[in-house]
Amino acid sequence: MSDQKDIKIVGAPAGIEGQGFFATKLDEVVGLARANSLWPLPFATSCCGIEFMATMAATYDLARFGSERMSFSPRQADMLLVMGTIAKKMAPILRQVYEQMAEPRWVIAVGACASSGGVFDTYSVLQGIDKVIPVDVYVPGCPPRPEQILDGILTLQDIVKNESVRRRSSPEYQELLASYNIT
Ligand code: SF4
Repeated sequence: MSDQKDIKIVGAPAGIEGQGFFATKLDEVVGLARANSLWPLPFATSCCGIEFMATMAATYDLARFGSERMSFSPRQADMLLVMGTIAKKMAPILRQVYEQMAEPRWVIAVGACASSGGVFDTYSVLQGIDKVIPVDVYVPGCPPRPEQILDGILTLQDIVKNESVRRRSSPEYQELLASYNIT
């Protein structure tokens, strides 16, 4: 059993500290809260999904990063994890799931298939989910090990922590969604 002293908690955001006060930016506080409570929606269609199951289980324990709360309802999740080969017939479903998620929402393409179609360069397989939805983080590998999936989630946490609360209503973000025909 590990000692109590081994337990680490999330560090305070950057700010100004004095006797009896701590001041920081709203962006920092919101980013800290969002990054450490990302609720995953696992969209798993094949083998990479098994690696994600291992990532959730005791040895790798995704709960350490505040993401143990799975959601199979898009409206109660903010981190879409796409794991597996996505057939072109499945693409509209994936897109619908993404559209049903409330803002702010983030996407991780887990593994070669979700990132680029993987070895399946065929007529029926989508050559990367970024053909239909925007992706924030790509995790390489076929399959990626649980450590790589964790690394992808930690990378996303950094992105979330540093995202301005205004980003979702910015013209750049609207432009990104418009490029995917998403309103
Ligand atoms: S990347 Fe490899 S392990 Fe993952 S779904 Fe594709 S074929 Fe399976």
